[in-house]
Amino acid sequence: MRGCDFTCNRPKGVRLISDLKFIVDQNVGKLAKWLRMMGYDTLFFNRGDDSRIIATALAEGRVILTRDTQIMKRRLVTSGRLKAILIQSDNPELQMHRVIDSLGLDCHFRPFTLCLECNHPLVERDKEQVKDLVPPYVFQTQSQFMECPSCHRIYWRGTHWQAMTQKLKTFIRS
Ligand SMILES: [Zn+2]
Repeated sequence: MRGCDFTCNRPKGVRLISDLKFIVDQNVGKLAKWLRMMGYDTLFFNRGDDSRIIATALAEGRVILTRDTQIMKRRLVTSGRLKAILIQSDNPELQMHRVIDSLGLDCHFRPFTLCLECNHPLVERDKEQVKDLVPPYVFQTQSQFMECPSCHRIYWRGTHWQAMTQKLKTFIRS
């Protein structure tokens, strides 16, 4: 298991990160960024195509997060072959609480490993490699950079990132 940026009192190894992958529908799309931020492989479907969501979840062993009660009535879900969690709140923070509570997610997540936009694993880049790709202030003040090989976004642990991880810590602890 890779390093954990956070500390908590739960026993280690309760749930390996690789155990869980998600698929979210358009109604709970904000969850995708949070889960990717935590290092969970999360697909996002921006069209309400239930059959495709079901088929992909089944083929790839993904947990479905949805606000669609019809999905919850599918035989695959009611029989327990597919795990799906019904999200009832409109509020993204409450939605995240629901996911964390339902699955007992703990702090052993891996922030800074997946692209928040396209779910692709990030790769580390040397500082010199990103010199012309990030603002000068960022280049001067940051030392670790990651790039998404798919969309070529560059990530660093700036203030936006820190705010998101702080928020995640409150989700986990409360
Ligand atoms: Zn990307």
